[in-house]
Amino acid sequence: MEHTVLIVEDEPAQAEVLSYNLESAGFRIMIAVNGEEGLLLAQKNVPDAIILDWMLPGLSGIEVCRKLRADPATRDIPILMLTARGEEEDRVRGIETGADDYVLKPYSPREVMARIKGLLRRANPSLVAETLDYCDISMDFVQHKVSRAGQGIHLGPIEYKLLKTLLEKPGRVFSRDRLLDLVWGREVYVEDRTVDVHIRRLRKALNVGNGKDMIRTVRGEGYAIDNDK
Ligand code: CA
Repeated sequence: MEHTVLIVEDEPAQAEVLSYNLESAGFRIMIAVNGEEGLLLAQKNVPDAIILDWMLPGLSGIEVCRKLRADPATRDIPILMLTARGEEEDRVRGIETGADDYVLKPYSPREVMARIKGLLRRANPSLVAETLDYCDISMDFVQHKVSRAGQGIHLGPIEYKLLKTLLEKPGRVFSRDRLLDLVWGREVYVEDRTVDVHIRRLRKALNVGNGKDMIRTVRGEGYAIDNDK
């Protein structure tokens, strides 16, 4: 899956270097040149990670970070703070505000890349894992196989991506919009009820034998996968 990183940086040369390196590594990039724009883009597109400059015109990086953490839609997005200030106090303040990690300027792009990958790994363990197990469901990402209680399950490509998305965050409710973005991609126009159709197929495929229904429908909200529905 392609991952999107939002870069919030007012210095074009810095943003350029970062986006070049991230794009070369297969990431999709969005760039905001100030805090307000960064917030809007984050809320609208919910990137997989955010690189946030501390010193921004207008809304500062710290304020952006605080606002991102206060909003349920964006509070789980890993944030890497870029700061030119080395003082211990600022570092602590950055972490307290909710940044997950920070890099001091001037940084090497390689270091930023390593930190971003580290944050993504922590946020989505399945990115690096070859399998994902939850209760009696098992996904093998190398062979593209799914099984439940040891029994192989055949899923279409959409159902496979749906299951993977839900299983990466068990218990979390995904809205239809969010699932459309994550599974179909933002560029594709699909109606909301298409999600319901594919969830129904996924549910049917998963409920083989005596397996209990693991997909939870939250009326008016969306879907989650969990054990204690
Ligand atoms: Ca700056």
